[in-house]
Amino acid sequence: MLISDYHVHSEFSGDSIEKLESIIKRAKELGLQEIAITDHYDYDMKANHEDFIVDLKNYVPKILELKDMNKKELDIKLGIEFGMQGHLGDHARKILNAYPFDYVLSSVHSIETIDISLPEYFKGKTPLEAHRRYFESVLENINTYDDFSVCSHLDFVTRYGGSDYRHMDYKKNWDLIEAILKKLISMNRGIEINTSGFRYGENRFYPCEDIVKEYYRLGGEILTIGSDAHRAEHIAMDFSKVYDFLESIGVKYISSFNKREVTFKKLK
Ligand SMILES: [Zn+2]
Ligand SMILES: [Zn+2]
Repeated sequence: MLISDYHVHSEFSGDSIEKLESIIKRAKELGLQEIAITDHYDYDMKANHEDFIVDLKNYVPKILELKDMNKKELDIKLGIEFGMQGHLGDHARKILNAYPFDYVLSSVHSIETIDISLPEYFKGKTPLEAHRRYFESVLENINTYDDFSVCSHLDFVTRYGGSDYRHMDYKKNWDLIEAILKKLISMNRGIEINTSGFRYGENRFYPCEDIVKEYYRLGGEILTIGSDAHRAEHIAMDFSKVYDFLESIGVKYISSFNKREVTFKKLK
Protein backbone atom coordinates (compact mmCIF):
# COMPACT_ATOMS: atom_id res chain seq x y z
CA MET A 1 0.00 0.00 0.00
CA LEU A 2 1.36 3.37 -1.00
CA ILE A 3 0.77 6.32 1.30
CA SER A 4 2.17 9.46 -0.20
CA ASP A 5 4.62 11.01 -2.63
CA TYR A 6 6.11 14.18 -1.16
CA HIS A 7 8.20 15.48 -4.06
CA VAL A 8 6.52 16.03 -7.41
CA HIS A 9 7.08 18.69 -10.07
CA SER A 10 4.46 20.06 -12.42
CA GLU A 11 4.35 22.37 -15.41
CA PHE A 12 4.90 25.23 -12.96
CA SER A 13 8.55 24.11 -12.66
CA GLY A 14 10.94 25.28 -15.37
CA ASP A 15 12.10 21.70 -15.95
CA SER A 16 8.72 19.97 -16.21
CA ILE A 17 5.81 20.11 -18.59
CA GLU A 18 3.59 17.70 -16.71
CA LYS A 19 0.02 18.87 -16.24
CA LEU A 20 -1.33 18.92 -12.72
CA GLU A 21 -4.44 17.09 -13.91
CA SER A 22 -2.29 14.17 -15.15
CA ILE A 23 -0.38 14.09 -11.86
CA ILE A 24 -3.59 13.92 -9.87
CA LYS A 25 -5.02 11.25 -12.13
CA ARG A 26 -1.89 9.12 -11.75
CA ALA A 27 -1.82 9.60 -7.97
CA LYS A 28 -5.40 8.36 -7.76
CA GLU A 29 -4.66 5.37 -10.01
CA LEU A 30 -1.80 4.43 -7.69
CA GLY A 31 -4.09 4.72 -4.69
CA LEU A 32 -2.01 7.39 -2.97
CA GLN A 33 -3.60 9.07 0.03
CA GLU A 34 -1.49 12.21 -0.28
CA ILE A 35 0.65 13.99 -2.82
CA ALA A 36 2.79 17.09 -2.33
CA ILE A 37 3.38 19.27 -5.37
CA THR A 38 6.79 20.82 -4.82
CA ASP A 39 7.71 23.10 -7.69
CA HIS A 40 11.10 24.79 -7.91
CA TYR A 41 11.98 28.10 -6.39
CA ASP A 42 15.67 28.70 -7.15
CA TYR A 43 16.54 32.30 -6.45
CA ASP A 44 19.87 33.91 -7.24
CA MET A 45 21.29 30.93 -9.07
CA LYS A 46 23.64 31.18 -12.03
CA ALA A 47 22.49 28.31 -14.16
CA ASN A 48 22.54 27.39 -17.81
CA HIS A 49 18.78 27.37 -17.98
CA GLU A 50 16.08 29.94 -17.62
CA ASP A 51 14.04 30.83 -14.66
CA PHE A 52 13.48 28.11 -12.11
CA ILE A 53 11.29 30.30 -9.98
CA VAL A 54 7.74 29.04 -9.72
CA ASP A 55 5.16 31.69 -10.51
CA LEU A 56 3.65 31.72 -7.03
CA LYS A 57 0.83 34.12 -7.86
CA ASN A 58 -0.64 31.55 -10.25
CA TYR A 59 0.73 28.37 -8.69
CA VAL A 60 -0.66 28.78 -5.19
CA PRO A 61 -4.32 29.49 -6.15
CA LYS A 62 -4.22 26.64 -8.68
CA ILE A 63 -2.97 24.09 -6.15
CA LEU A 64 -5.45 25.31 -3.53
CA GLU A 65 -8.28 25.00 -6.03
CA LEU A 66 -7.27 21.44 -6.96
CA LYS A 67 -6.81 20.59 -3.29
CA ASP A 68 -10.38 21.61 -2.61
CA MET A 69 -11.80 19.91 -5.71
CA ASN A 70 -10.13 16.57 -4.91
CA LYS A 71 -10.30 16.55 -1.13
CA LYS A 72 -12.59 13.51 -0.90
CA GLU A 73 -10.23 11.26 -2.85
CA LEU A 74 -6.72 12.68 -2.55
CA ASP A 75 -5.04 14.97 -0.05
CA ILE A 76 -3.05 17.42 -2.18
CA LYS A 77 -0.37 19.38 -0.34
CA LEU A 78 0.79 22.83 -1.31
CA GLY A 79 4.53 22.34 -1.33
CA ILE A 80 7.59 24.04 -2.67
CA GLU A 81 11.19 23.02 -3.32
CA PHE A 82 13.20 25.98 -2.15
CA GLY A 83 16.77 26.18 -3.42
CA MET A 84 18.39 27.35 -0.21
CA GLN A 85 21.68 29.22 0.04
CA GLY A 86 23.53 30.73 2.96
CA HIS A 87 22.61 34.31 2.01
CA LEU A 88 18.90 33.68 1.33
CA GLY A 89 17.51 33.55 4.87
CA ASP A 90 15.57 36.83 4.65
CA HIS A 91 14.32 36.06 1.16
CA ALA A 92 13.13 32.61 2.28
CA ARG A 93 11.27 34.10 5.25
CA LYS A 94 9.57 36.65 3.01
CA ILE A 95 8.48 34.18 0.33
CA LEU A 96 7.63 31.21 2.49
CA ASN A 97 5.59 33.25 4.98
CA ALA A 98 3.57 34.89 2.23
CA TYR A 99 1.67 31.73 1.24
CA PRO A 100 -0.04 28.90 3.15
CA PHE A 101 2.45 26.15 2.31
CA ASP A 102 1.86 22.71 3.79
CA TYR A 103 5.36 21.48 3.11
CA VAL A 104 8.74 23.05 2.35
CA LEU A 105 11.69 21.14 0.92
CA SER A 106 15.05 22.71 1.66
CA SER A 107 17.35 21.81 -1.21
CA VAL A 108 20.90 22.64 -2.21
CA HIS A 109 20.89 23.27 -5.95
CA SER A 110 23.52 26.00 -5.94
CA ILE A 111 26.28 27.16 -3.67
CA GLU A 112 27.31 30.82 -3.63
CA THR A 113 24.98 31.17 -6.64
CA ILE A 114 26.79 28.49 -8.68
CA ASP A 115 24.59 25.67 -9.92
CA ILE A 116 26.15 22.46 -8.57
CA SER A 117 25.10 20.56 -11.67
CA LEU A 118 27.61 22.61 -13.69
CA PRO A 119 31.32 21.79 -14.18
CA GLU A 120 32.09 25.23 -12.74
CA TYR A 121 31.20 24.02 -9.26
CA PHE A 122 33.69 21.12 -9.47
CA LYS A 123 36.49 23.03 -11.17
CA GLY A 124 39.62 23.09 -8.99
CA LYS A 125 38.04 20.85 -6.34
CA THR A 126 39.00 17.29 -5.52
CA PRO A 127 36.00 14.95 -5.05
CA LEU A 128 36.42 15.26 -1.28
CA GLU A 129 36.51 19.06 -1.46
CA ALA A 130 33.45 19.19 -3.70
CA HIS A 131 31.52 16.84 -1.43
CA ARG A 132 32.58 18.53 1.81
CA ARG A 133 31.70 21.96 0.47
CA TYR A 134 28.29 20.62 -0.44
CA PHE A 135 27.62 19.29 3.09
CA GLU A 136 29.00 22.50 4.64
CA SER A 137 26.47 24.34 2.58
CA VAL A 138 23.62 22.12 3.86
CA LEU A 139 24.72 22.98 7.39
CA GLU A 140 24.92 26.70 6.61
CA ASN A 141 21.43 26.57 5.13
CA ILE A 142 19.94 24.90 8.18
CA ASN A 143 21.48 27.59 10.35
CA THR A 144 20.27 30.33 7.99
CA TYR A 145 16.64 29.33 7.75
CA ASP A 146 14.91 26.84 10.03
CA ASP A 147 11.25 26.89 9.03
CA PHE A 148 11.44 24.17 6.40
CA SER A 149 9.91 20.69 6.69
CA VAL A 150 12.67 18.38 5.50
CA CYS A 151 16.08 18.46 3.81
CA SER A 152 15.69 16.89 0.41
CA HIS A 153 18.05 14.51 -1.41
CA LEU A 154 20.71 15.04 1.24
CA ASP A 155 23.70 13.47 -0.56
CA PHE A 156 22.67 13.79 -4.20
CA VAL A 157 25.78 15.80 -5.12
CA THR A 158 27.19 12.49 -6.42
CA ARG A 159 24.87 12.89 -9.38
CA TYR A 160 27.01 15.70 -10.73
CA GLY A 161 30.59 16.37 -11.76
CA GLY A 162 31.06 13.27 -13.89
CA SER A 163 32.49 9.86 -13.06
CA ASP A 164 35.43 11.21 -11.01
CA TYR A 165 33.00 12.66 -8.48
CA ARG A 166 30.44 9.89 -8.39
CA HIS A 167 32.00 7.95 -5.56
CA MET A 168 31.59 9.55 -2.17
CA ASP A 169 33.93 8.77 0.67
CA TYR A 170 31.29 8.84 3.39
CA LYS A 171 33.83 8.28 6.17
CA LYS A 172 35.65 11.47 5.28
CA ASN A 173 32.37 13.41 5.17
CA TRP A 174 30.83 11.76 8.22
CA ASP A 175 31.65 14.58 10.68
CA LEU A 176 29.57 16.97 8.57
CA ILE A 177 26.79 14.44 7.96
CA GLU A 178 26.58 13.72 11.68
CA ALA A 179 26.47 17.45 12.49
CA ILE A 180 23.65 17.95 9.97
CA LEU A 181 21.61 15.04 11.33
CA LYS A 182 22.05 16.09 14.95
CA LYS A 183 21.10 19.66 14.14
CA LEU A 184 18.00 18.54 12.20
CA ILE A 185 16.87 16.33 15.08
CA SER A 186 17.40 19.12 17.61
CA MET A 187 15.23 21.38 15.44
CA ASN A 188 12.56 18.72 14.93
CA ARG A 189 13.20 18.69 11.21
CA GLY A 190 13.22 15.76 8.86
CA ILE A 191 14.91 14.20 5.91
CA GLU A 192 13.43 13.15 2.63
CA ILE A 193 14.16 9.81 1.02
CA ASN A 194 14.32 10.67 -2.66
CA THR A 195 14.04 7.78 -5.11
CA SER A 196 15.22 9.66 -8.20
CA GLY A 197 18.69 8.12 -7.82
CA PHE A 198 17.28 4.91 -9.26
CA ARG A 199 16.33 6.83 -12.39
CA TYR A 200 19.67 8.65 -12.62
CA GLY A 201 21.72 5.47 -12.83
CA GLU A 202 22.92 5.55 -9.23
CA ASN A 203 20.88 2.53 -8.16
CA ARG A 204 20.09 4.03 -4.78
CA PHE A 205 17.92 6.57 -3.06
CA TYR A 206 19.18 9.87 -1.63
CA PRO A 207 20.46 9.95 1.02
CA CYS A 208 22.16 6.57 1.24
CA GLU A 209 20.91 3.87 3.59
CA ASP A 210 23.60 4.57 6.21
CA ILE A 211 22.53 8.20 6.54
CA VAL A 212 18.87 7.28 6.98
CA LYS A 213 19.86 4.64 9.54
CA GLU A 214 21.97 7.15 11.43
CA TYR A 215 19.21 9.77 11.47
CA TYR A 216 16.84 7.17 12.91
CA ARG A 217 19.42 5.81 15.38
CA LEU A 218 20.05 9.31 16.69
CA GLY A 219 16.33 9.72 17.36
CA GLY A 220 15.12 11.37 14.14
CA GLU A 221 11.55 10.45 13.31
CA ILE A 222 10.53 12.82 10.52
CA LEU A 223 10.86 10.97 7.23
CA THR A 224 9.10 11.58 3.95
CA ILE A 225 9.44 9.74 0.65
CA GLY A 226 9.57 11.61 -2.65
CA SER A 227 9.99 10.50 -6.24
CA ASP A 228 11.10 13.90 -7.56
CA ALA A 229 8.92 13.05 -10.54
CA HIS A 230 8.90 15.49 -13.43
CA ARG A 231 6.53 13.19 -15.32
CA ALA A 232 3.37 11.53 -14.02
CA GLU A 233 4.68 8.05 -14.81
CA HIS A 234 7.51 8.52 -12.27
CA ILE A 235 5.22 9.25 -9.34
CA ALA A 236 5.92 6.91 -6.40
CA MET A 237 8.43 4.97 -8.50
CA ASP A 238 10.66 2.57 -6.54
CA PHE A 239 8.82 3.31 -3.31
CA SER A 240 8.49 -0.36 -2.42
CA LYS A 241 12.30 -0.46 -2.06
CA VAL A 242 12.10 2.36 0.48
CA TYR A 243 9.22 0.78 2.38
CA ASP A 244 11.12 -2.51 2.61
CA PHE A 245 14.26 -0.75 3.76
CA LEU A 246 12.46 1.33 6.39
CA GLU A 247 10.72 -1.74 7.70
CA SER A 248 14.05 -3.58 7.89
CA ILE A 249 15.53 -0.92 10.17
CA GLY A 250 12.46 -0.70 12.39
CA VAL A 251 10.85 2.51 11.13
CA LYS A 252 7.09 2.33 11.67
CA TYR A 253 5.85 5.72 10.55
CA ILE A 254 6.30 8.23 7.80
CA SER A 255 5.43 11.88 8.08
CA SER A 256 2.58 13.90 6.77
CA PHE A 257 2.47 17.69 6.69
CA ASN A 258 -0.41 20.08 6.93
CA LYS A 259 0.29 23.83 7.05
CA ARG A 260 3.83 22.79 7.94
CA GLU A 261 2.76 20.86 11.03
CA VAL A 262 3.91 17.27 11.11
CA THR A 263 1.81 14.22 11.93
CA PHE A 264 2.63 10.55 11.47
CA LYS A 265 1.12 7.78 9.42
CA LYS A 266 1.68 4.07 9.96
CA LEU A 267 3.78 2.49 7.22
CA LYS A 268 1.77 -0.73 7.39
ZN1 LIG B 1 16.08 19.13 -5.97
ZN1 LIG C 1 12.83 18.27 -7.19
